[in-house]
Amino acid sequence: MISKETRGIVLYNREFRESDKLVKLFTETDGKRMFFVKQAAQSKLAAVIQPLTVADFLVKLNLNGLSYIDDFREVAPYKAINADLFKLSYATYIMALADAAIPDNQVDTALFAFLEKTLALMDEGLDYEVLTLIFEIQLLERFGVQLNFHECVCCHRIGLPFDFSFRYSGLLCPAHYDQDRSRAHLNPNVPYLIDRFQSLSFDELRSISLKDDTKAQLRQFVDSLYEDYVGLRLKSKAFIDDLAKWGDIMK
Ligand SMILES: [Zn+2]
Repeated sequence: MISKETRGIVLYNREFRESDKLVKLFTETDGKRMFFVKQAAQSKLAAVIQPLTVADFLVKLNLNGLSYIDDFREVAPYKAINADLFKLSYATYIMALADAAIPDNQVDTALFAFLEKTLALMDEGLDYEVLTLIFEIQLLERFGVQLNFHECVCCHRIGLPFDFSFRYSGLLCPAHYDQDRSRAHLNPNVPYLIDRFQSLSFDELRSISLKDDTKAQLRQFVDSLYEDYVGLRLKSKAFIDDLAKWGDIMK
């Protein structure tokens, strides 16, 4: 057992035996780990093990089994996210995506920082749909998917009104559209924005603002990228898709 202090995000918790809980934390120092909390309801940890909580945890890490949380400080629940069903659904989805993207016990401080920052900006009121799209694009690499949205796969020219080809797994410029009859027929704005999203830094996240129809086109294309290249089926994503359908009916 190793005792240490680490910042951590609660990904989820679940019942374990009669009144205990298992809590999955994404820790900054040691990746994702499962923690055992005895008598969870009566425990002083009760409030801090709710999903979408970030805190500094004092933990005992066990390399071969369950780990334990001894104490915590600097708790910051994401208040605005928890008060809004839409924000909450998107935040839950990006946490599930981060959980799926890397194996447990693998240290990934960059992903931890990116998740914490994205959740903080969602909580602050930035566009959660756009933040989610950026998160999805930047996470593709973690799933082993490396796509170039910067240049034509045939002639390597840049800065043109590109389309995407699933057959070539890359962009086609107008001179090479005819290489793939079943190219995606995207609005050229879509690959342009995805190219920007791939290399966006934290500071730039604030400056992104998109129209609704652009967001809808990006959503459709990013969904097809995940379907074709990642093949992930997350319950939290299905929930977002259902929410969107209900939203349409209400309009
Ligand atoms: Zn070309």
